[in-house]
Amino acid sequence: MLDKGMDPFSIYDELFREGFEGGIDIGCTHDDLPHRSEILKPYPGILLAGAMGPWEAGARETGHSEPEQEFSRIKSLDDIAAELDVLKGNIQAFRPAFIGEIGLDYHWEYGTHEKQHLIFETQLRWAEDLGLAVLIHDRDADDDMVDAIRRLSPSKGGVIHCFDGCERLMQQALDRGFYISFAGNLTYRSNTQLRDMLRKVPTDRLLLETDSPYLAPVPMRGKPNCPAYVIHTYECAAQTLEMEMEALKELVASNFKTLISK
Ligand SMILES: [Zn+2]
Repeated sequence: MLDKGMDPFSIYDELFREGFEGGIDIGCTHDDLPHRSEILKPYPGILLAGAMGPWEAGARETGHSEPEQEFSRIKSLDDIAAELDVLKGNIQAFRPAFIGEIGLDYHWEYGTHEKQHLIFETQLRWAEDLGLAVLIHDRDADDDMVDAIRRLSPSKGGVIHCFDGCERLMQQALDRGFYISFAGNLTYRSNTQLRDMLRKVPTDRLLLETDSPYLAPVPMRGKPNCPAYVIHTYECAAQTLEMEMEALKELVASNFKTLISK
């Protein structure tokens, strides 16, 4: 959020005023744990996650694309190993509740698939060693993700965040104890398939999330997303599941509490 010019303190203060109970602040880069842990000190209800996402595989090395500026450098395997070391030290020092986001992104094709797998699988192994759950990002990489979860998912499971995958991925993740979390793209008119997937998630494995500053839900679509907008995602999910809003809020809050107490 910080690099989008958003002020996390006013956002969190507003959220808690609106009755927000708690959530997870997701890690983006190998070196962001010290700073985020400082910001989150006044908000014990927001749990810390830390990780190297697939974007830290560096700039795409074949063809053309425009990865986000900050990740646009090509990285060597030595660079990646050094960054994993920094992250490991930060995880030991700041003790995040989750390792995440980690995953595969074949939409932006950061680095190479080999580098993305190295980063992802290293952290899946750490999660098992440290007894932590993981937060998984998957974009257009369902086949490899199904395989990775089958081989390496940590015993604590975790969350498939911003779920936008196929039924096979959902089933594999559920079999391995994961929660399935939907974000603002659930509300996009053309995403009927995603709403169909929502109906297939067992109610005790369902989560909803903001993915702020991305994926602002309708009617805020196109604007920088802010966590309070998640209310629109709840409204869409309640309608899709034919549930009362209050019951849905209680369900998601209870699932979240179960997840964090695992
Ligand atoms: Zn993500």
